Amino acid sequence: MAHVVIVGGGFAGVWSAAGAALARGKADLRITLIAPGEHLVLRPRLYEPEPDLAKVELGRILGPIGVEHLRARVGTIDTARRVVVAGGTEVGYDRLVLATGSELVRPRDLPGADRLFDIDTLEGARRLTEHLRGREGFRAVVVGAGFTGLEAATALAARGRVLLVDRAEAVGEQLGPGPRPEIEAALDALGVERRLGTTLTEVGDGYAALSDGTKAEADAVVWTVGMRASELTRQISGRLDHLGRLPVDRWLRATPEVYAAGDTAAAAFDAEHTVMQACQHATPLGKVAGYNAAADLLGLPPRDFTPGPYVTCLDLGGAGAIFTRGWDREVMASGADGASIKKHINQRIHPPVDDAERILAAADHVRLELPFFPRKEPAATA
Ligand SMILES: Cc1cc2nc3c(=O)[nH]c(=O)nc-3n(C[C@H](O)[C@H](O)[C@H](O)COP(=O)(O)OP(=O)(O)OC[C@H]3O[C@@H](n4cnc5c(N)ncnc54)[C@H](O)[C@@H]3O)c2cc1C
Repeated sequence: MAHVVIVGGGFAGVWSAAGAALARGKADLRITLIAPGEHLVLRPRLYEPEPDLAKVELGRILGPIGVEHLRARVGTIDTARRVVVAGGTEVGYDRLVLATGSELVRPRDLPGADRLFDIDTLEGARRLTEHLRGREGFRAVVVGAGFTGLEAATALAARGRVLLVDRAEAVGEQLGPGPRPEIEAALDALGVERRLGTTLTEVGDGYAALSDGTKAEADAVVWTVGMRASELTRQISGRLDHLGRLPVDRWLRATPEVYAAGDTAAAAFDAEHTVMQACQHATPLGKVAGYNAAADLLGLPPRDFTPGPYVTCLDLGGAGAIFTRGWDREVMASGADGASIKKHINQRIHPPVDDAERILAAADHVRLELPFFPRKEPAATA
């Protein structure tokens, strides 16, 4: 029987599995997802105070749709022989979907780097939570005033004093000037101090040393700077983008037999942009890549990747959230309105569980995941 193998159990991997199961219908096709963990980790929620709530059992998604789960880490992909080596076992494939995501780039040469905390993985977020549990009024230094750093800093500011450090001269530099006034106002309201044009030079016992020559007291130093695609992309192609991602065509193929989805895929969003390393894109990329991998084996027409409008929603803790639309990130909602959109998004990213029909129906709706606008109640009529 032909075999689709999906490597990775994040948003892209899970939705690839559902997309492949959708294309399979009642045909004979084996689908296996390989990932070491038992859970889909909802990484966008790892800044929350209880990160263990940000996970969904993979078995409750894969079981109902007839996808096998091999609990292992893939170390080698041999595209010539069409096998992956997972936990010492060779697994053959006819079509492969690479969905192994991304990782925070850690500063290995920084003195005291092993003392850094992060919220990149569930284990990292748990470690930070446990370290700060019961230490109300702690001092934290957050390095990086990008999307993750801003969410981490504003969440921590509810319980401690936070210093936000960035090499750039402005907060949220990559988000552009559109949302900056709201972000700065939120940081002021929460008492988050900023040290811009500055970087971290050392982490010691209870302090962070900075490039401006100062030392900041710190019970925890949280590193949030830099994301890079999984190293497995190198085993598919030597031609990667600046984030280590595989270039793919409109059907999300990196090679005739290997598809890529999520943070490993440099898919075109439009004529000017590639997709972001974001769950907003990982989900539809997964749906399309998995569907096409199975469709290719079953002789069905492939689906084009046609993402919905680009939006962002940045949680600013006690100051609410901002919701932006478009690549210029025009602010559409902020404060409490933004927070209610963020809450809605954080619920919507949970895939349905225990119900094959709902899971497959969601896999069929690539654009409906976006743009995450909360439904407006119709005006009451007399
Ligand atoms: C703190 C934080 C906040 C974020 N906020 C947002 C947000 O608000 N909005 C948004 O859209 N995005 C956000 N993101 C980004 C988003 O989480 C990622 O883009 C998304 O998780 C990517 O999904 P993925 O499936 O490609 O990869 P991942 O979620 O990284 O999953 C990768 C999977 O592959 C598995 N894997 C890795 N290596 C191997 C291997 N060798 N063998 C087998 N399996 C392997 C992993 O175990 C995991 O199951 C945030 C990320 C973080 C960390």
